Amino acid sequence: MSKQPPFDFEAASQPVATRAGAGLAKIGIALKHHAWRDGSPERLTPTQGQTVVILKNARRGLRLDEIAAALGVTAPTASEAVKSLVQKKFAARRSCKDDGRAVSVTLTARGEELADRVANWPDFLLRALDTLDAAEQTAFLRSLMKIIRGLQDAGDIPIQRMCIGCRYFNPHSHADPVRPHHCAFVDAPFGDRHLRLDCNEYEAAAPNAARSNWGAWSGNAPASGIEGAI
Ligand code: SF4
Repeated sequence: MSKQPPFDFEAASQPVATRAGAGLAKIGIALKHHAWRDGSPERLTPTQGQTVVILKNARRGLRLDEIAAALGVTAPTASEAVKSLVQKKFAARRSCKDDGRAVSVTLTARGEELADRVANWPDFLLRALDTLDAAEQTAFLRSLMKIIRGLQDAGDIPIQRMCIGCRYFNPHSHADPVRPHHCAFVDAPFGDRHLRLDCNEYEAAAPNAARSNWGAWSGNAPASGIEGAI
């Protein structure tokens, strides 16, 4: 009896990127179903939830065009989200201090309290991420940053306030393999596990510096910042 050839997984598999993209889409569906729905009894839409978080992180009033840019949506879409938040008394419109004709949007005390709740990742997702060990979580954070940067470059999402595009970020400037990077804002070394995805102190690096930092950080160095894992 002739022996069957071994199953050819390579020929039978879609590219890894295709399957990983399908996995991300599944997570996106789960987030859509759970994330903002659980954030408040008022059942915020994703755009309303993101608007609350953006206003909280800005720590000042934002004009409608600034909110639309941060969300990566059109002005009418941002306007609808703000209108709903104002009606629910989570946000208020005020005249801008520097231009009496312009209007800025700020959170009310109720909106601030809501933002504290919805800014955190939903519990169901945190529980799933806790199944990764420390090294896996850091490697995942690195991969996420690379994906987000790709989306930024393609214009699919607005610029995010991440370390890798920040003028204070100095990648691989220390010999310590656990904390090889340096943040010039706080003047301290740090590792990949401490990278920020949305930092209030972020300031965009000049294009040349951002490119050079990206090259230095995104090489093949293993994820840093895990004691004992190097
Ligand atoms: S200021 Fe914030 S974003 Fe910039 S390098 Fe430091 S921690 Fe990262």
